[in-house]
Amino acid sequence: MPLKPDIERPEPERRRVGYALVGLGKLTAEELVPAARTSDHAYVAALVTSEPDKGVAFARVHDLTEGDVYTYEDFERLAEREDVEAVYIVLPNAQHREYVERAARMGKHVLCEKPLGMNAQDAQAMVDACREAGVLLMTAYRCQYTPQHWAARDAVQGGRLGAVKLLDAIHGQVEDDPEAWRLKRDLAGGGPLPDVGIYCLNTLRFVLGTEPEWVFAALHQPQGDERFREVEESLSFMLGFPGGIIANGLTSYGTHKTATLRVLGEEGTVLMDPAYTYQGLSLTISDGAGDFQPSLPDEDQFGLELDHFARCIREGQQPWTPGEEGVQDHRIMDAMYQSARTGQVVRLERVEGKDAFRGTPPQVPGREEG
Ligand code: NAD
Repeated sequence: MPLKPDIERPEPERRRVGYALVGLGKLTAEELVPAARTSDHAYVAALVTSEPDKGVAFARVHDLTEGDVYTYEDFERLAEREDVEAVYIVLPNAQHREYVERAARMGKHVLCEKPLGMNAQDAQAMVDACREAGVLLMTAYRCQYTPQHWAARDAVQGGRLGAVKLLDAIHGQVEDDPEAWRLKRDLAGGGPLPDVGIYCLNTLRFVLGTEPEWVFAALHQPQGDERFREVEESLSFMLGFPGGIIANGLTSYGTHKTATLRVLGEEGTVLMDPAYTYQGLSLTISDGAGDFQPSLPDEDQFGLELDHFARCIREGQQPWTPGEEGVQDHRIMDAMYQSARTGQVVRLERVEGKDAFRGTPPQVPGREEG
């Protein structure tokens, strides 16, 4: 199936948004390029890679041409490509800021993989750069676009569970390659927390719609395991949300794959297991009447986020998960590391209101409001 838009429809407002994908790793090749094929509003217009031969071979298979392949050195030539309206940064975390800023300087809108940066200061600089350049910035939090996560949030916020008391989120997997960039502090910014634990943190904030007031965390970095010379193997955190709601999170690079979310209310519970996988998200809502598993479409999550950002570009609206949403997770993760270092609870800046860092709600398949 072609990746190019229907060129018979030239009106700019109807044209799909062309993305340049920056970084030709596993996520780009196996998820993003196939996802673009399912997208109604987006398509892949260009690729940026350090290996042009590999890029050209890949491009040919996917109906792009040699001229659609760029290297990091000639990245700025994308400025000449009017059909490239958005740039999607899919590089190791330490490179996000540089490429977001370079894309913004070219006047391109930017979708950036999670975590947005290396820490809150780094991420805030990216938000500022995009604001100054007048371009949109979205953090690629795919889970905030799925029907299952919205159904969980609707159950929590719609009162179906009664008063919510406790939440618990776990995301762990084994990282066994000691050379992986994910285990290098200078490239990743931390261990499992900014990579997979961030899903726990971000989903807890998303389902409640409020911001934590304090955080406490502990981590373990085993001695003598070459994988964990620079970053933690495991981290456990506790967050205090307004109204006395307490949330726990566990994340690790040393455990069998686990990806769960549980919300405990006075009159009901939500269980998602798995909660953060690319496919097969499972949601059970339990209350006095029994256990319900709503029938919801298993959408391509990357397609949903590509579409949402494309619509925001066309309509000039702030995305649901803008750069500010990514900065807030960094503030809280920075506080988690501080708490783990000092053994103290860290108070966070008070944030009033609902969805304080979010923009225009996405259209969610199978959901009435949207
Ligand atoms: P990857 O290891 O597959 O590499 C991505 C690109 O970076 C490739 O072009 C690769 O050549 C280059 N690269 C790899 N190691 C490098 C190094 N040491 N120095 C310089 N360049 C290097 O990475 P990935 O798994 O695609 O992750 C890229 C980004 O996407 C990360 O920010 C990650 O957190 C994010 N990610 C998100 C999801 C999701 O579900 N949203 C899933 C996986 C990765």
